[in-house]
Amino acid sequence: MKTLPILLLAVLFSCVNAQQNDEIQPSHNEIASKDSTFVVPSEYVADQFDYPVGKPDAKGYFNAQGFGDNTHLGDDWNGLGGGDSDLGDPVYAIADGYVTFAQEHNASWGNVIRIVHYLPDSSQVESLYAHCNEILVKENQWVSVGDQIGTIGNANGRYKAHLHLELRYEVGMPIGGGYDSDTKGYFDPTGYIERHRKVPNRD
Ligand SMILES: [Zn+2]
Repeated sequence: MKTLPILLLAVLFSCVNAQQNDEIQPSHNEIASKDSTFVVPSEYVADQFDYPVGKPDAKGYFNAQGFGDNTHLGDDWNGLGGGDSDLGDPVYAIADGYVTFAQEHNASWGNVIRIVHYLPDSSQVESLYAHCNEILVKENQWVSVGDQIGTIGNANGRYKAHLHLELRYEVGMPIGGGYDSDTKGYFDPTGYIERHRKVPNRD
């Protein structure tokens, strides 16, 4: 009878250990490690980032709720006209990358697109576009910076139309709740985009 508590302890310990490892280990190369034949074409290495709306300078849009506001984990891009005036407007890929998710998640997230970006230093970041009205890309396809990937939506009328954009340095995390005081795994999208824009050099 003494073996059972010991066994339970061992199981508990291994669970805690696994959880700690999850938190410590960066998920860089997660996709590559799943499939050793996965190759990033050189033309899709993400060497620049840009805004997801109002190409190229977010013209006609404003960030109504920035990263960290009310523990927001992303940016909320809205048209200057307010309300649903931006419903159906184009949403663009913020960098070259690989679409890993493109479908409805649930009522509050609506249609979600997730793109993994492979950086020149071989690390990865992931962008997430939520509440889309339409999804115009498919999972497992490559996209280029500035490609239209969807349209701005309102999650079936749940919100006034806007784009919720997240940028994550921990790739492949659960979708989460969009708000959290713990920002581990997340970048400030606008700050990151501003530091990685190369618009004057674009063709
Ligand atoms: Zn949001």
